[in-house]
Amino acid sequence: MKWTESLISTLREDPKEAETISHKLMLKAGLIMKVASGIYNFLPLGWKVVLKIVNIIREEMNKAGAQEVLMPILSPAELWQETGRWSFYGKEMFRVKDRQDKDFALGPTHEEVITDMVRKYVNSYRQLPQILYQIQVKFRDEIRPRFGIMRAREFIMKDAYSFDKDEENAKKSYQRMFDTYNKIFSRIGFKFRAVEADTGAIGGTSSAEFMVLADTGEETIVYCPNCDYAANVEKAEGKIEKKGGNAGEKLEKIHTPEIRTVEELANFLKLKPEDTAKTILYMADGGMIAVMMRGDREINEIKLKNAIKANELRLATAEEIVNKTKAPVGFAGPVNLKEKGIKLYIDNSVAEMETMVCGGNEKDYHYSGVKRGRDFKEDKIIDVIKIQKGDFCPKCGKELSEQKGIEVGHVFYLGDKYSKAMNATFLDEKGKSKVFVMGCYGIGVTRIAAAAIEQNYDENGIIWPVSIAPFEVVIIPVNMKYKEGTDFAFKLYEDLKEKNIDVIIDDRDVSPGVKFKDSDLIGFPIRVVIGEKNFKNGKVEVKLRKEKQAEVVEKEKVIDKIIEGLKG
Ligand code: ATP
Ligand code: MG
Repeated sequence: MKWTESLISTLREDPKEAETISHKLMLKAGLIMKVASGIYNFLPLGWKVVLKIVNIIREEMNKAGAQEVLMPILSPAELWQETGRWSFYGKEMFRVKDRQDKDFALGPTHEEVITDMVRKYVNSYRQLPQILYQIQVKFRDEIRPRFGIMRAREFIMKDAYSFDKDEENAKKSYQRMFDTYNKIFSRIGFKFRAVEADTGAIGGTSSAEFMVLADTGEETIVYCPNCDYAANVEKAEGKIEKKGGNAGEKLEKIHTPEIRTVEELANFLKLKPEDTAKTILYMADGGMIAVMMRGDREINEIKLKNAIKANELRLATAEEIVNKTKAPVGFAGPVNLKEKGIKLYIDNSVAEMETMVCGGNEKDYHYSGVKRGRDFKEDKIIDVIKIQKGDFCPKCGKELSEQKGIEVGHVFYLGDKYSKAMNATFLDEKGKSKVFVMGCYGIGVTRIAAAAIEQNYDENGIIWPVSIAPFEVVIIPVNMKYKEGTDFAFKLYEDLKEKNIDVIIDDRDVSPGVKFKDSDLIGFPIRVVIGEKNFKNGKVEVKLRKEKQAEVVEKEKVIDKIIEGLKG
C-alpha cells in the first residue's frame, strides 16, 4: 500500500472520550471511529488487524477439525422461548419486530440456533462428534459499553459449539477446544492465562476463561504461585485467615447513634472489624433473604447467586427493608430475623466466630456478644466472600496472589442444558434416543485487537505483535525529492510485496518528523528509513518498533534483516 493512496488518518491530540490506553490509541491511530455508544466503524488499518486475527482463529479451528458455518444474526423468539432465555436474557438482548409484529432477537450468542440446526441434521451416533463454528457479529445491549471495542454493543465473536454422544466424549471435545485456544493465543503472541470462571448467562457446569494479562484489565484473577490454581475473582474459592470473633460472652443491646460503618462500630466498641459480622438484605427471586459475613470482608454476589441458585438477585431497597424489618438500612442483624420471615444464610467466616457484634434490627442499636446457635440459627452455611490476595489456595493451602486480566475467550462445558430443553436427540448404538452432550466456546475477535494494545504500547503509541500488525513493515524515504533514495525505496517496496511481506511505503511529501511520529503511533513492527547520508554510503536504517536502537545495514542486506526481524 502507498500511504498517499490510503485512508489513514491519525490524530495529533489525545481523544478526550478515551478512558483506556487501547481506546485512546485506536482512535488516535485511526483504526476505529465511533458511530454511537458501543458501535464502531473499523477503518482500513483497524479492519486489517481484525482480519489477521480472524485468519489465525480460522486456521487453528480448522486444524482442530471444527467446521465453519454461518448462522443468521436475526433469530425468532420461539427458539429462545424453548430454553427460557427469551425472558432470562433480559435487557442485554436486542429485540426487533417484523412487519407481522413477530419478535426476533439480534443474536447475543447462538446456542439455540445451532442446537436447532443440529437436531434437524444429526440423528445418529455415527455422525458424532460435531464441532461447528462461525465468525460473526454479535449484539449485546451492555449496561456500560466502554473502552471502545473492548466492551461494545456490536462486536465480532468466534463462537463454536460441540455435540457429543456422551460425557466422556464431550469432555474430549472441550479439551480439544481448550488446547486450540492455547494455540491461538500463543500464535497471536499474548501473555495469557486460563482461569476457572463463572458460567453466567450461558450456563453449564464448568468453564474456563482465557485472560490476557494486563494491569489495565477489567477482570481480577486470583492465582496460586505454588500450584496451578487460578480463577476469576467472580468464581474464586479459598480459605481465609481465622481471626477476630471475640465480642464478649453476654448478649447485650447497645445504643450506637451516628454509627454507620463497620470501622466506626468497631472503634466505638473498642473491638476490631473482624469481631463484627455484617448482614446484607437481598431480594432473591422476589423474596427477601439475609446474608452474613465477617465485618472486614466483602461479599461476592455472583457466588451468592450460585450458592442459593437464584435466577434474579438484587439488593433490597430502603423501602423494602423498612417494610419488612421495621428498621432503616444499616441495622440488619440475625437476632429475631426468623420471626420476620427472612431466610438467613451465613458465610463460612461467620460460622467460625465465637461471638460477634451484629445489627439490632432497630434504628441506632447493635447487639454485642451474639453467639451463633444460642442467639440465632442460620438456614444454611455457604461460601460467599470475595477471595483476595493473602487468602489461602483451595488446592494447596499456600497464599494466593492477584493480577488483572482481559477476558478474550471463554470455554463452557454445557452438558445437556440446551439439548434437553430443546429436545435435541440422536439414536445411540442400541437404537435408544439420547440428548446431545454439548460444549460452547467463544472468542472476542474484536476485543483481541484492543487487548493486544493494552499489553503492547509505549509513550509513542502501539507496538503490534507481528502476527496481527496492520502492516508488517513501513518504508520511509526521508526526503521524497532525493531521487536515488526514493527509487530504492520503491524498488524495496515491490520486492517485499513480491515476497508476500505486508508493507506500506510512506510516500507523503511531509517532514520526516511527521512520518516517524505516525509510524510509531500506528506501531508497525519494522521501520526502514532511507535517508540521504546513509544511502550515499550504501546503507539504510532498520528499526524494530519494540526496540530503542536502530541498526544501519548495507542496502543489499536489508531484506534479510527484515525477514529476520519478522521472525524474531
Ligand atoms: P464479559 O464478562 O466480558 O461480559 P461474557 O462472559 O459476557 O464477557 P461470553 O458470553 O463468554 O462473554 O462471550 C465470549 C467472548 O466474547 C468473551 O470472552 C469476550 O472476549 C467477548 N465479548 C463478550 N462481550 C463483549 C463485548 N460487549 N464487546 C466485545 N467483546 C465481547
Ligand atoms: Mg457479558
